This record gives sequence, C-alpha cells and structure tokens, in this order.
Amino acid sequence: MFRVKALTRYAAVLLACAAPILPLAAQEVSPAPAVSQQVPAGAPKLLVAISIDQFSADIFAQYRQHFTGGFVRLTQGAVFPAGYQSHAATETCPGHSTILTGNRPAHTGIIANSWIDQTVTTGPKVVYCAEDVSKRTAGSRDYVASPVHLLVPTLGEWMKKANPAARNIAVSGKDRGALMMGGHDIDQVYWWKGKQFVTLAGRQLGPTAVAQNAEIDRLLAKGAGEFPLPAYCRRADRAVQAGDVSVGNGHFALKAGEPEQFRVSPRLDRATLDLAVKLVDEQKLGRNTVPDLLAVSLSATDYVGHATGTEGAEMCIQLTQLDLALGDFFASLDKRGIDYAVVLTADHGGFDIPERLHEQGLEKTSRVGPEVSAEALSATLGKRYGLEPKSLILSDGPAGDYWLRKDLDIGLKGKIIDDASAILMTSPFVEKVLSAAEIAATPMPQGSPETWTLAERARASYNPLHSGDFVVMLKRGVVAIPQARKGYVATHGSPWDYDRRVPILFWRKGMTGFEQPSGVETVDIAPSLAALIGLKIPQGAFDGRCLDLDGGVGNTCGVVK
Ligand SMILES: [Zn+2]
Repeated sequence: MFRVKALTRYAAVLLACAAPILPLAAQEVSPAPAVSQQVPAGAPKLLVAISIDQFSADIFAQYRQHFTGGFVRLTQGAVFPAGYQSHAATETCPGHSTILTGNRPAHTGIIANSWIDQTVTTGPKVVYCAEDVSKRTAGSRDYVASPVHLLVPTLGEWMKKANPAARNIAVSGKDRGALMMGGHDIDQVYWWKGKQFVTLAGRQLGPTAVAQNAEIDRLLAKGAGEFPLPAYCRRADRAVQAGDVSVGNGHFALKAGEPEQFRVSPRLDRATLDLAVKLVDEQKLGRNTVPDLLAVSLSATDYVGHATGTEGAEMCIQLTQLDLALGDFFASLDKRGIDYAVVLTADHGGFDIPERLHEQGLEKTSRVGPEVSAEALSATLGKRYGLEPKSLILSDGPAGDYWLRKDLDIGLKGKIIDDASAILMTSPFVEKVLSAAEIAATPMPQGSPETWTLAERARASYNPLHSGDFVVMLKRGVVAIPQARKGYVATHGSPWDYDRRVPILFWRKGMTGFEQPSGVETVDIAPSLAALIGLKIPQGAFDGRCLDLDGGVGNTCGVVK
C-alpha cells in the first residue's frame, strides 16, 4: 500500500473510483445505497462543510431514529458516528478551528474561546479568539471580528492558493464559526450579530445578505407562533427548575421585536441556510472550472443547548427543525444541478443540566463550586505569599486555562502553581490539574482518540503563544456553571467524551456508503476533502489523515490497495 503523490495519479484514481463498482463486490460489502445514481466523474464542484454547534454524538444517536430530512441523506453516505474533537478544550472556537484546517488547537493556536493576554494595554486582558486586539478603542465594549489568531490555513485557503478562481465562502450564526472555518483569505463571510447578518469591518454587505436581512426584519417585526411538537418530543416536554430558571417545555414562539428569541431558536439555522443558498446563486458556486468551498456553521443547537439543556422539548424541536431545514437546503442544491460533496460535523458535544439528570438516573453530576474560581485561589494564595490578591491568578471561567500574574519570578510561579494544584485537588469537583510544563512535555498524542490520557487531550489544545500557566479539569459530570441563569443553564468545554465526541458524516450523490464506529478525528476532514478534489497539500500540513470515503473497493485517498 502506498500513497500516490502526483496530482495526475490522484486524478486517475478519482476517475477510477468514479467508475461503477463490480455489482458482486458491492453486494458483499454493503447493502445497496438508497440513492442509486452513480458518483459523477471527477472531483465535486462544490464542497459544503457544515458544522452544527454542540451537536454531540450522543444527541445524534438519540435523534437519529426520528430524522426524515437532510440527515437521512447524510446517513446514507460515509458515517463516522464517533468523530472526535480530540483535544481537551471543547469550545466553539477551538472546535471550529480544527474542522477545515486539519489541525488540532495546539497548531491552530485557538486554545479556547477566550484567553488572557497580560500584554494587552487597551481594555480587559481577556482576548476573544476571533478578535483583532490591535483594533481595540478605549471605552468601546465592542470588538473587531477577525481570524487574526488562526495560525494555519484553512482548506478554502489551500484551494485558493492552488487556483485563485476557487471561491471560499462562510456563513454562521457566530463570527467565530464563520471565521475559523473560512480563515484569512475569504471571498464572502457573514455571521449573525444582534439583529442581522454582518461581515468583516471595512467590507460591504453583498446584495444577497442585504435581502436576507430584510426578510428577517419582516419576520422580527411580525413575530411567529410556536413550532409543532412532534409525538416523539412529548416525553421531554416537561418543566424542570435549574436555579431560578425553568426549562424543558419551550416551543419557540417568537414575540415581535425580540431578536434574542430568534437567535435561540431553529429560525436562526434556517436563516443561515437560506443565506447560504442565496450565496450559491450570487457567487455561482459549483459552476466554476475548479471546486469552490461553502462553509456553514449552524449555531442554534448550541444556543438552545446553553439556554435549555440537551434533553428538553426545546432540543427535540430544534433538531427536528434543523433536519427539515437541512433537507430543504440539499434539495435546493439538487435543483440547481450542482455536483457537491458534503461533510457535516460539530465543533464540540454537550451535556444536559444536572437538575434534570438527577431525575433520570444520573445522580453523580453537579454544578461546580466556588472554590475552583481564580478569585478564590487568588485570595487564599495572595494571603499565603503576602501578595496583592487582585489578578494574582486569572482565568476565563471555573475550568480550563489559568494564568499567574506575569511579573512573578519563575521560582515563585512554580510554588504558586504547586499550591494551587494542591488546593484544587481537595475539591470534590476537580479531576486533575496540569501545569503548562507538564503539558508541554507530553508528546503530541497518536492513535485512537478514545484512549488518550487527560494530559494528551490537554496537549492537543496547548499552544505556548496563548495557553495558560496551568489547566484545571473538572470531574466527569461537573458542569462549569456555578449558578444557572437565563440563557445559560448548560455547557460544554470539558475533556470528557460527551463534549469531545461528534458525528462526522460525508455524502456525495451515488457514493457507496458505510458506517465506521471506530474513533476518527475532525482533523481528518480537511485531508479527506483535499484528496476528494485532488488537491495536493504539502506533507506535514495536517495533524489529521485522509479517510477513505468510498465504502467499496475505490479509495478516495488515492491509496492503491
Ligand atoms: Zn460551539
């Protein structure tokens, strides 16, 4: 077995894969796919990369039986139900940074949604992953969105580098979703902000985005009724109290003039997909001489998850509507006669609220206690060492990366990290504390992501440029929200598999589908798509590997068996 390097050989293999497979062999290896057309010859003309924010492998498995729309098509393709966002910091920005770069956060530089940069002189020391800090203005609470922190190219950028005619387009409900999938060299990029889709500073909205915003304006002015509750959602349709917040039985009625209700609902995803289809027309995607890339990050599942948890009627309705919206989206592409290939995955998984889990057989889950916070540690250790406690230890939440004040000498830093670790390990909520030195000394993990140690998971999201002085990992089932509040009752971000494991689904018309339950990684997506379009990428550019997407004897990675 060897990897074909020459582009001409790639093309030859792709053409060979496109040829009909011997019926006997096909019958032996898999049942006949429901879509009977042959794979079109040559590379697909459009790559569609979809990320569903917070779409865990667990909820994919839970709702799979109920899907009737777009997911049905995708599950006829190459199905990897145990894809891994293999790193420890399972947040939106790191997760999105892996999908089309083929690199783990250790290499993308996107170690978290936000990190502390003590060299920042304007505004707070917390730096958002998709923010250009150099453009901060004193007194402004807003930030300038940018992919500036992303250290590696995306697939769309590789495609444009190989052929500048290739178009690289991204749309999302979140700026970080669009920018981390699109990268630096991006033809059109839009994300939802407040009441409308917006784009990068200094760019004008195209006519399509203007039209889409006008359509949403009309909906927001009018409002809309509840979504129907499918029969299979009924058992989840029950109010549960999380602190002061009641969740579990929301049906997404949209009050006129309430864009927040629009954002935290299936309507945001449908609007994002509508905009994507309109951009396909405006930008003539898939009609080019070379393949184009359309990245779509759908954020509503995450907003619904954070606001209501993963096991209420809200998530059930959200996934039902998302499935239908995806079906309409694919049908729109079909109608245009575009030869496209799709990958669908997620930036991270998710976890339900402890209050409901307690009623459902999972007693060992809770919200994190106050002693894990940087403020609590600063108070204790400031007193112990006679140091000003304010900003002695900094973090962006009660888990993940923590930073020590930068002017401390290295010996004292070491002592404080040891003491912080000893204090934290007495907490019933803490599983492990790792210093940056320990993480940096851990070799980059290899092999199945299921088996990685916690240190290896942390290594995959450690980058010395942005990472903290130590990392705190909460125990499995401990939710990093001390007190539920409206809009934020549940979360993700842990190194545990409920947050790491996501489905990875590939589909192209006529492909021989299959299901492979072993663990693969989201960093495998970019090399797999690159091979599918015959794009030559320099050796060592990816952390991931090419996955053969042909369930039969063909091999989309260009490997001759
Ligand atoms: Zn996310």
